Amino acid sequence: MTYPHLLKPLDLGFTTLRNRVLMGSMHTGLEEAGDWGRVAAFYGARAKGGVGLIVTGGMAPNKEGAVMPGAAGLFSDEDIANHATVTARVHTEGGKIAMQILHAGRYGFTPECVAPSAIKSPISMFKPNELDEAGIEKQIADIVTAATRAQQAGYDGVEVMGSEGYFLNQFLVTHTNKRVDRWGGSFENRMRLPVEVVKRVRAAVGPEFILIYRLSMIDLTPNGSTWAEVVQLAKAIEAAGASIINSGIGWHEARIPTIATSVPRAAFAWVTKKLMGEVGIPVITSNRINTPEVAEEVLAEGAADMVSMARPFLADAEFVAKAAAGKAALIAPCIACNQACLDHTFSLKMSTCLVNPRACNETELVLQPVEEAKQIAVVGAGPAGLSTAIAAAQRGHNVTLFDAAEKIGGQLNLAKQVPGKEEFKGFVAWYGAMLEDSGVAVKLGKKVQAEDLTGFDEVVIATGAKPRDPEIKGQNLPHVLSYTEVLRGAKVGERVAVIGAGGIGFDICEYLVTGESPTLDLEAWKAEWGVGDPSISRGGLAGNGPQPEPPTRAVTLLQRKSTKLGKGLGKTTGWIHRAALKMKGVQMVGGVIYDEITPEGLVVSDIETREHRRLIEADTIVLCAGQIPERSLADALEAAGISCHIIGGADVASELDAKRAINQGTRLAASL
Ligand code: FAD
Ligand code: NAP
Ligand code: SF4
Repeated sequence: MTYPHLLKPLDLGFTTLRNRVLMGSMHTGLEEAGDWGRVAAFYGARAKGGVGLIVTGGMAPNKEGAVMPGAAGLFSDEDIANHATVTARVHTEGGKIAMQILHAGRYGFTPECVAPSAIKSPISMFKPNELDEAGIEKQIADIVTAATRAQQAGYDGVEVMGSEGYFLNQFLVTHTNKRVDRWGGSFENRMRLPVEVVKRVRAAVGPEFILIYRLSMIDLTPNGSTWAEVVQLAKAIEAAGASIINSGIGWHEARIPTIATSVPRAAFAWVTKKLMGEVGIPVITSNRINTPEVAEEVLAEGAADMVSMARPFLADAEFVAKAAAGKAALIAPCIACNQACLDHTFSLKMSTCLVNPRACNETELVLQPVEEAKQIAVVGAGPAGLSTAIAAAQRGHNVTLFDAAEKIGGQLNLAKQVPGKEEFKGFVAWYGAMLEDSGVAVKLGKKVQAEDLTGFDEVVIATGAKPRDPEIKGQNLPHVLSYTEVLRGAKVGERVAVIGAGGIGFDICEYLVTGESPTLDLEAWKAEWGVGDPSISRGGLAGNGPQPEPPTRAVTLLQRKSTKLGKGLGKTTGWIHRAALKMKGVQMVGGVIYDEITPEGLVVSDIETREHRRLIEADTIVLCAGQIPERSLADALEAAGISCHIIGGADVASELDAKRAINQGTRLAASL
């Protein structure tokens, strides 16, 4: 497929972008770490990979506007010099880069945070300080200074962050702006600050500097903006001197998922499309666009002039170059899991990518070509083995990959059966394309024994993990199934008890209560979560609220711990899984011991007192009690005196996920 809309240059009058792809802003933690060679390598790789315009992570304009204490910004000449090394590298690679200015307002993780009114957000620790007139003027001046410093550092432009519920957005709606002066009250007053900021930034940087304004097109919060207000603001922002309007979708405090993997692809392009024709400057759409096909489609149907993708550029720096070269099948897909990017950010860890552990580690995890090729056997084509095999072959080794199954993917083939995890299908398909491209010899349907592994210079055991035996009385009854059997299509009854509430227990519940996956049907997904049209209801919250389809089964999910179920799920996605199951009426039971399984169901008691023995009636019981390493081959090799490397679930099964498996596999390949 070719991508005529996506690859078409965009003329901004004073400068031309080489295509319609914007790398959206992401907070990676790189700038805060202070290793500027690493920052330059990260952005330089994306520029080399052909993206039209890069937007950096959000830079704070001042202390009170910082997302958290220590957040990066252009505060000194030294900062300007450091950023100049990044812009120089991007320009050397033929790219363009804009710096995002992010004033967090009441979302700032600091007691110094400021806002239009002293109202704490539901996701914040600190109540903000209400700004007076002088305080507002100071914020504008600091944002303008940040923009002029960005210009001095060699940036091609700035993006003013006006969406996602941050500072400028907080002025726009009465929910957060209770002021009665010229910055509050009527919509003209409430939009005064964003418009003033754009006007003064434009005046300070001159006409030939890209000025993107990120505008909240659908707040997804109570009392959010109406569509008429969105259009009025967009027109005023254009008149104030913006070069481009980017789409912001949902405030951070919104209780509707906007970028998680269960959100349909391009789920919000229809919102941006409503603005097309209302303004004369280019408009960018955003959210859950992760393949060149989807991006091309969005542009071809006239939903936007340009497409923003952020996480896809963590997954693959060469997204655009590969698309342009007709090699889209080789683009590592962002599966929208958040596991190594946003979840890291919220744990104050450097971002990287589950699919591509080299992201943000470009200078440290290097796949050097080898001088002497070795014969390498990799056993197990799950994510650990696949990533080792591909990376080792890319370095020049001769790699043979074995799997007992008839197809590659290991447990990813189970994950992809779960409604809302359809992205795993493309992930496995990508591995297939990469195996072919890198010249790995693949031997499927071959359960490897120790004696098959002679004659190799290196042997890698990536045989994965298998279900833990929970040793519950009655577990051999015919109505007891393991999660593997369920996801491979075993028949399940109407009433189900699921033992174990880890990631797999939650996924099994989702599988058991969902009919058609709403992820594949945008209108169904919008109804499920209560997304409406902002022209009809403020903020785009449907008037009748979420309307989930009824559950296909009655499910009870259980764990022994007394803590909240799902506590260990992803930091940024756990709430979505919990909310989804709650909407489907899944009963969550913690703090129980499993006494026995009987033909009638599951008998449990309170774990602490051993009292309150009761029967949970169930036609089927599903065991999701964790995993243990599959080490039989590793043990046999050890007994035969053959040394091997053990990775992924075969190494450590506890808290195993694909992120760890892939990271370990890639790092091993870099060292072979
Ligand atoms: P596996 O994926 O288990 O692969 C091992 C492979 O080795 C298998 O293909 C097996 O056939 C092969 N094998 C074993 N013995 C032999 C032998 N003797 N000879 C030849 N081949 C052999 N992780 C996440 O990060 N995010 C998620 O959202 C997520 N969702 C999940 C949902 C479900 C339903 C499940 C089951 C898992 C999920 N996981 C998720 C976990 C993730 O899939 C695993 O952590 C990961 O697959 C482990 O990788 P691995 O390569 O170590 O092993
Ligand atoms: P897990 O997260 O370790 O959960 C295991 C569950 O089984 C826990 O609820 C545990 O709770 C219970 N359990 C443990 N030992 C038991 C025993 N002997 N008897 C009964 N119950 C027992 O493992 P998992 O759900 O199997 O998932 C495997 C890995 O896949 C996880 O590490 C996870 O990271 C990954 N995964 C990730 C996602 C994702 O969305 N990121 C999704 C699926 C899987 P109690 O001990 O309290 O009973
Ligand atoms: Fe995408 Fe997951 Fe990688 Fe983040 S960690 S960029 S969501 S694939």
